[in-house]
Amino acid sequence: MIRCFIGLGANLDDPAAQIAIALRALARLPDSRLLRCSSLYGSKPLGPQDQPDYVNAVAELQTTLEPLALLDALQAQEREQGRIKHRHWGERCIDLDLLLYGDLTLLSERLNIPHHEMHKRSFVLLPLREIAADLHLPDGRAITDLQPEFGGDLQRIGPPPQVC
Ligand code: ADP
Ligand code: MG
Repeated sequence: MIRCFIGLGANLDDPAAQIAIALRALARLPDSRLLRCSSLYGSKPLGPQDQPDYVNAVAELQTTLEPLALLDALQAQEREQGRIKHRHWGERCIDLDLLLYGDLTLLSERLNIPHHEMHKRSFVLLPLREIAADLHLPDGRAITDLQPEFGGDLQRIGPPPQVC
């Protein structure tokens, strides 16, 4: 089994409920085990500011799915929840990003691992530290040593959803 981390984000259509729906889907993925999820965090949007605040979380998944098969599954779940592309970094009812896949580094057209800029984003780093304080990036940097550059006003807004 490979230790993976999935970033969840939502800012439309009852974001906390959207995150819970996505987690239940992660728990049902074939050849995979959902191990834990962070608390829910509230963050200000990164891109256009005329959109609602986000709810974010990070989940830990063990899987034997290949990276692209896992991405396919995440994108199928985004579609299942009715995600529509409005604009770059714009509002969405669910965003599922594959943050880390074991210690794999991959740069390809469809998939970049680690997820690009995850090491700069407080809404990724703080939930990650909560559930995996021992974690290192594939380049060896400890997650606890990384300094978030974006999303400084992150707030913990709720406990981990029950599904975990
Ligand atoms: P963003 O998450 O940056 O707001 P999207 O969710 O719309 O953007 O994803 C845009 C594209 O990013 C997808 O088509 C996907 O192929 C690509 N992508 C590259 N690396 C990853 C990754 N690690 N996790 C999820 N999507 C990724
Ligand atoms: Mg995404």
